[in-house]
Amino acid sequence: MTTPTDTSNNPLVSCEVCAKQIPASEAQVPEAVEYFVHFCGAQCYDLWQKKIKQDQAQQASKPKS
Ligand SMILES: [Zn+2]
Repeated sequence: MTTPTDTSNNPLVSCEVCAKQIPASEAQVPEAVEYFVHFCGAQCYDLWQKKIKQDQAQQASKPKS
C-alpha cells in the first residue's frame, strides 16, 4: 500500500465553507473565534465571515418569544 503523501505530521482538515480537504498546515485559521474552523483560502474565509455576520444579525433581530 502506497501513500502519495505522508499525512502523519500533516493531517487533512475540511474547509468550513466548501468542504475541500486541505492540509492543516495550509489551512487558513481565523483569529479570535470561539470555535476551531479551517478554510482552504482567503476567499472561503471571507464567505464564512459574511455568513457569520448575517447569522448574528438575524439572531439579533429575532423577536423574543
Ligand atoms: Zn474552501
